Order: sequence, then C-alpha cells, then structure tokens
Amino acid sequence: MFKETNKKFSFETELLRSGAYTRYPVTNPESMPIYMTTAFNVEDLDDLEQRYKEKGFCYNRNRNANRSALAELLTQMENGDNAIVCSSGMAAIYTSIISIVKAGDHIIADQTLYGETIEIFTEIMKNYGVETTFTDFTNLDLVKSSIRPNTKLFYTESIANPMITISDIDELGNIAHTNNAYLVVDNTFMTAVGFKPLEHNADLTVISLTKFANGHSDAVCGAIIGKNELIDQAYKMQILTGCTADAFTSWLVSRGMRTMYLRVKKQMENALILAEALEKSPYVKKVNYPGLKSHPQYKLACRLFQNGFGGMISIILPENREKMNAFMRRLNLAHYAMTLGGYRTTLSYPVLSSHYDMPEKDRLKIGITNGMMRISVGIENANDLVEDFLQALTVYSK
Ligand SMILES: *Cc1c(COP(=O)(O)O)cnc(C)c1O
Repeated sequence: MFKETNKKFSFETELLRSGAYTRYPVTNPESMPIYMTTAFNVEDLDDLEQRYKEKGFCYNRNRNANRSALAELLTQMENGDNAIVCSSGMAAIYTSIISIVKAGDHIIADQTLYGETIEIFTEIMKNYGVETTFTDFTNLDLVKSSIRPNTKLFYTESIANPMITISDIDELGNIAHTNNAYLVVDNTFMTAVGFKPLEHNADLTVISLTKFANGHSDAVCGAIIGKNELIDQAYKMQILTGCTADAFTSWLVSRGMRTMYLRVKKQMENALILAEALEKSPYVKKVNYPGLKSHPQYKLACRLFQNGFGGMISIILPENREKMNAFMRRLNLAHYAMTLGGYRTTLSYPVLSSHYDMPEKDRLKIGITNGMMRISVGIENANDLVEDFLQALTVYSK
C-alpha cells in the first residue's frame, strides 16, 4: 500500500517502507500482473469488514487474484457455475472426493483410471471408512449392479487412462442421479475444447491443468468446476487442506490456456492422422484411439466428441524390451516424458509409470500389457510426426 507522507524515517525503516507500491496509477494492463503477495493491507476495521463483504482479497491461501481469474476462465470454458483452482490435478481430485463423501459412503469408480487416482480410493479413502468398487464403466449393467444403498459418488474420466476407453457420461449421470449420487468426471485428456462433462450430466468436472490445458509442461495445477453448492463445499475443503495454486502457477496456466483451442484442435487432428498411420503399420499390434472405426466405442465417441477425439493414443507393440528401447532411441521427435499434453509429442510407458504400483494380474486384466506405449500427440507437422514414427518402427523389421 502506498501511503503518502512527508515524514522521513530512518534508513532501515525506509528500506522496508519506500517503494512498497507505486504512486502512479496502474490500472488496466493488457496482461494481468502476478499478485505475489501473501496478504493485502486494509485501512481500518470498517475497511476490513467491507473487504469480507465484497469477497475482496485478504490472505493468499483463501483467495488470490490470479487464482480467481483462472477460476473465472475455467468456469466459462467448462460451462459451470463456479470453479476452484488447486495446487495440482491430484489436489483437485482428492478435494472433489472429500467434499462429497463421508465415512460410511460408497464410491463406484471406473477400473481404468489415472494410477494415482485409483490409489486415492485404495490408499486413502479406504482408511477413512469409504469403500470403492471398481468396475468397467463401458458396461452400464456392471455399473448398475455395483450400486449400494450408500453409494454417493460415481467417478470416471472422459477418456480413461491409458486404455483410451470412453463411457456414456450422459447415461452415467442419469444412473447416479436416480440413485441420489453425484457424478465426477476427470476431463484432463479432452479439455473443454473437446468435451464439457457438465453439459452431459456430470456434477463436477475435475481437471489436471498440468497437461493439455496449460500445454507447455511448465506448471503443475488442477481445478474443480461445477455447480455452486458443490464448489462452495470443495472451496471449504481446499482452504482447510491448503491445496491452493500459487499466483505464478495460476498466471502461467491462464497464459497457457489462451492458446488451448489452437493447440488442442491441432493435437486432435494430428492424433487421428498418426493413429491411422500406426494402425496400418505391420509392427503395431493394436492402436487404441476413439477416432478409429476399430475402437469399440467409436459410435459413442462420435456422439460425445464432436470437435475431435483427443490427443491421446495408446499402442501395443510386440513384447520385446530391447526392440522397444531401440524404437524409443530411434525416434527423433517424440521423447519419453512422465507427463502428457505438452505442445511436443511425448511417450510414456504405463507399466513403469502411471500403473507401476498396480499388481501385474490386475493390470493385464484391464489390458495394460508390457507392450503398451502411450502417446501424447503434439502440434508438430503431421507428416513429420508420422514419418518419424514409421522410420523408428522399422527396428522391429530385423
Ligand atoms: C496427470 C493426471 C492427473 C494428475 O494431475 P497432476 O496435475 O499431476 O496432479 C489426474 N488425472 C489425469 C487423467 C492425469 O493425466
């Protein structure tokens, strides 16, 4: 705060006081400044109470301007009432769950989720008296038969990781609501460019902004978007557990998201071209991509995803570790990275990353074999990308 006074204090006091803020007006910058302040000053007690009333900014864990601005952007994009921005995708996921269930409640979750999300259910929620049934969400009869009188939450992903399966979100929402339960959908793989779960009966959308939304692989962040009453409850949990995103991260993600439409559209176009090319390769045993007619939920994908089928592909290569290593080394463009959704094409190996902690028999049961590679498609020239994959695959020819 800048307080004008003619009084001159001692050197060490001025060192703290001078230049704390500028005397010149700083309104309406073209790009939002980063509010790197843990707190805001108030004039007096009346001002303090007024600040509370206006939901002004007081303390950074509770509210920060960059975080609020990003929440507003996400609310618009996902078409919710409101949003909160969390310190990571996992923080958003965990917060969404604890804001809905309490001890004694039951959760039904899809069997192929992001590995750590599964562990939230099996390693945390279980210890606090919340049981989770994992089932195949592509089969709604299995989902229905898992319902118990205390089922409070259905949890899934708009495209499930890493099998790239899709479930009928509209119908899942109906089933959840008929049974007085909520539906939470992780929309990380699609982003609002490709799909808006809240327009398909979901009660909350959770998203790891770390991935496609920010798109530059330089910030870890997450969000929950949805109806007011649920977001109010999630906000309360977030303040108490302290999993709020910091100002700089929120600013980075806001900046990244300005180009989200251009990036994600291009990623989806490239992914379809690459998936089609890989499917034709004699060295690829299987390609999982919802834009391929060979995908078991191709029709459903066409109905749900009208702007494209996402930027994530998984492929099954012959199970030969040496050849797989040679293939990875031979790729010039796609590099291995423990993340996804960046502007460059990256690879990951679910067996040694997202599903490292899953017992082998469980992971084989859902189709995650030792030959699986997951590809997050970037915004490179599509021909460059296809050519590079095809030349690298020739390691399997000898
Ligand atoms: C990465 C990811 C998460 C976790 O997000 P973080 O930002 O790493 O905490 C959750 N769900 C999906 C589908 C993801 O890909």
